[in-house]
Amino acid sequence: MADVNSKRISELIRIPGNSTCADCKSDVVEYASYNIGVFLCANCAGVHRSLGAHISKVKHLKLGSWEDSQVKRMEEVGNTVARRKFEERVPVCYRKPTQEAPHILKEQWIRAKYEREEFIHTSKQRYTRGTMEGYLYKRSKVDNTVKQRKFVLSEKDKILKYYVNDKKEPKAEIRILEINISFAPEKLTESLRKPAFQISFLNQGSTRHIFIYHNDPEVLVEWYMAIRSAKLNLLHVAHPTVADSELLQCLTQDFLKEGYLYKTGPKPNDGFKKRWCTLDGRKLMYHEQPMDPYPKGEIFLGSDCEGFSVGEGAEPTSCSKVREQGFSFHVKTPTRCFWFSTDRQDDRDEWISLLQTVIKRPMTPQDFYLNGILVKKRASSFFSIR
Ligand SMILES: [Zn+2]
Repeated sequence: MADVNSKRISELIRIPGNSTCADCKSDVVEYASYNIGVFLCANCAGVHRSLGAHISKVKHLKLGSWEDSQVKRMEEVGNTVARRKFEERVPVCYRKPTQEAPHILKEQWIRAKYEREEFIHTSKQRYTRGTMEGYLYKRSKVDNTVKQRKFVLSEKDKILKYYVNDKKEPKAEIRILEINISFAPEKLTESLRKPAFQISFLNQGSTRHIFIYHNDPEVLVEWYMAIRSAKLNLLHVAHPTVADSELLQCLTQDFLKEGYLYKTGPKPNDGFKKRWCTLDGRKLMYHEQPMDPYPKGEIFLGSDCEGFSVGEGAEPTSCSKVREQGFSFHVKTPTRCFWFSTDRQDDRDEWISLLQTVIKRPMTPQDFYLNGILVKKRASSFFSIR
């Protein structure tokens, strides 16, 4: 009987829907939750196990034997039917994590689905109400300590603000439409071992970064989704004819890549200086340190048909007299050529490949807007942000 059941399970995972993980769509399915009736990858199975057997009973597909009742349950449900139930009311703003997404997003997605049943009972979706208020931990710009700050999100006012002193004026008011959030960048989660995200926004044409932590991943993910929800609703108003699928691209995007590079200055004899570089969509920002509140400069990456290009080594016509070091590449804009270098070839190749992907994309109206307002280099006196 055991053999018959194992065979039946092997047949079931070939059915479309069951061949990819019910939660992250990974195509390596090795486990099942035999009370819920879904097929899972090893990573999501680990999260299911952490929920406790009262919510999800997990077993390996090939190790151990399958009882008739368990196989019957898997036949009756399966990933497609389960998704219809547990994902029935996922709000459009919700970022459904793929396999590559940060672990915390996957974990909270799974908890939201099966433990809290947020997508069955919409009253549990606190993040779609257009307002949110609470305390988060923000890294101080001055001494790098982490301090509790009150944050208030208001879709009606189109603003996210935070307070140093709850009874005084807010320290900053950030326009929701100009926010990007990169979820769980390694530099943040490694430094404090807490769930974290980085908010980047424009202030007087320059990007400002703030670094946010919270001990409870559920709270952090709620804020993330609340900001996405408010931004989506505001984008709907601003661009009523644009489809959701396009607006969703503008909500939040994790950084494509971050890391140290060496960069030369604009003068012919400027040497290479070590800079923390961040590729945030069409912005390539360079900083002295990974958690600087402001980039030293930002390069807007237009499209290749407007004269932007990326390639190995120095750009041939540039007047660089600096001796090449390591593995270098250049980023050419219509007004200036930037020269970077790194210690590793695979790192250089990855930068070039990602930068080329960005400049091959056609420009959207939002891209033109960003290009128009972005101040490319911060003057040293510019430090007047409240
Ligand atoms: Zn998975």
